[in-house]
Amino acid sequence: MKNIFSIAIHGGAGTLVKGMMTPDIEARYKNDLKTATDAGYSVLEAGNTAVEAVEAAVVVLENSPLFNAGKGAVFTANETHEMDASIMDGKTLNAGSVSLITGIKNPVSLARDVMEKSEHVFLAGDGAHEFAKELRYKFEDASYFYDELRHQQWLQIKDTDSFQLDHSVKKDSKFGTVGAVACDKYGNIAAATSTGGMTNKKWGRVGDSPMIGSGNYAHNKTCAISCTGSGEYFIRGVVAYDVACLMEHKGMTVDQAAQEVIHKRILEIGGDGGLIAVDAKGNISMPFNTEGMYRASKSSNGAVEVFIYK
Ligand code: ASP
Repeated sequence: MKNIFSIAIHGGAGTLVKGMMTPDIEARYKNDLKTATDAGYSVLEAGNTAVEAVEAAVVVLENSPLFNAGKGAVFTANETHEMDASIMDGKTLNAGSVSLITGIKNPVSLARDVMEKSEHVFLAGDGAHEFAKELRYKFEDASYFYDELRHQQWLQIKDTDSFQLDHSVKKDSKFGTVGAVACDKYGNIAAATSTGGMTNKKWGRVGDSPMIGSGNYAHNKTCAISCTGSGEYFIRGVVAYDVACLMEHKGMTVDQAAQEVIHKRILEIGGDGGLIAVDAKGNISMPFNTEGMYRASKSSNGAVEVFIYK
């Protein structure tokens, strides 16, 4: 039997605050989610690897202004952008992460370069920029990342001690991190995650997205996971690895394990959000405990599906 290959992506858990979501905006979100899914899927269809597919899908989402990653990244307390990203190959257990990144259009590609072209797993801040310069990355100036809506969100809370998740005017309305998980024709899986973090974040705050085991994880033996939600809780819950552990040690399916973590274990410690997961047979699970999660998937035995709400 031929292996099923599949991809799932997310553009963040939670939904836009009431009044902001119009049919037109909803159509734009769905369009970009579909474009990203198609981009990743065609990589798989052409016989390329899960790592290449998740990078391709995340690059599309990073290039969209709608999501809190790459072009649409939120503002920090210093009116800058500090982006985090990670990628993991479930076949080799190689991984790459970057944090506190400024000026790079596609942080997920830099994370992949850390995985493939350095001896390390995690590079942050100035050192990560040095590494990017050595690889001749182009640095965009701040205007590339400027977005009127994001700037307004920041102006509302600048000079205060509060920080916010993406579009929210009240906590938990929306997390806009992006991610992708994929299973390729050879039964290998991979995960990638990318984010701008939280509006008005300071002190070099880093969330779960670049942390292997928390916001991102992949192991062919169990699953590939990309998370979105309240990063501080996802770090403490070691969420992505927790799903893999439930599969490995308790014999759960990918869907059972993902549901258990999102609807029980992370809730018990106060975390809200969701995740996307795939196993090495191409089975997908996309649970969330918020009102919605921007998400889409496509398997070689089915059509592309795009959802925002439950
Ligand atoms: N998990 C991300 C963070 O805490 C936020 C998000 O999912 O949008 O940085």
